[in-house]
Amino acid sequence: MNLILLGPPGAGKGTQAKRLEERHGIAQISTGDMLRAEVKSGSEIGRQAKAIMESGALVPDAIITAMLASRVSQPDCARGFILDGFPRTTPQAEALDVMLRDKGLQLDHVIELKVDDAALVERIAGRFTCAQCGTGYHDSFKPTSRPGVCDSCGGTEFVRRADDKAETVAARLEAYHRQTAPLLPYYKAQGKLSQVDGMASMDEVGRQIEAILQA
Ligand code: AMP
Repeated sequence: MNLILLGPPGAGKGTQAKRLEERHGIAQISTGDMLRAEVKSGSEIGRQAKAIMESGALVPDAIITAMLASRVSQPDCARGFILDGFPRTTPQAEALDVMLRDKGLQLDHVIELKVDDAALVERIAGRFTCAQCGTGYHDSFKPTSRPGVCDSCGGTEFVRRADDKAETVAARLEAYHRQTAPLLPYYKAQGKLSQVDGMASMDEVGRQIEAILQA
C-alpha cells in the first residue's frame, strides 16, 4: 500500500504517518526528517538545505526527488510507504508518477488533512521532541506527564525545530498554499484524493484515515 499524506505544516501528517507505519508495517518517509538528518551530519545536501529550511522556503526539486528515489528503493519500502511531506510541488508529483510507473507500483490513496491556518501557528510553535527517542510533545496539547521527563524513555533533553518559530511558520504556510495546494486538484483528477478533518483529535483523524483505507 502506497499513500501520500498531504496538508500544511502542523496538520498532523507526521503523527498519523507513524501510526500507519506501526499499524500496517509500511515505511514512513518524511523528506523533512531526511533533510534534518543531512543537516545534522553536515553532508553536502545538508549544507545546501540548511538556510533554505530555516527561511521556511522549499528545497529545490532536484535534490528532493533524487533523495526520495534512493529511499523508496530500500528494503523496508517493499510492503509500501507513507509519504509525509512529499510531494510538495507539481514537478515533484510528476517525478513521483514516473518513479512509481518505472517500478511497476501505484499510489493507492492521497489523503488531505484539512486544518485552519489560524490553528497551525499555535500547534507548530508549541512542538518539541525528546532528543533521545524522538517522541513528539506539545506545550499545550500534549505535555510530558512529569515536567521535563520523556514519557517513553525517561530522557530529560528535548529539542525544538529551528523552523518552528512563529516568524518562519508564516513563510512555510505561504509555501504550502502557493506551491503544494495545487497538488490537490492534481490528485483529484487522478481519482486518488480523500479528505479527513485534521482539526479532530489524533484518534479521530486516525479512524477517518483507516475508514478510507478500508473503503
Ligand atoms: P517538514 O518537516 O516536512 O515540515 O519539512 C521541513 C522543511 O524541509 C520544509 O519547510 C522545506 O524547507 C524542507 N522540505 C521537506 N520536504 C520537502 C519537499 N518535499 N520539497 C521541498 N522542500 C522540502
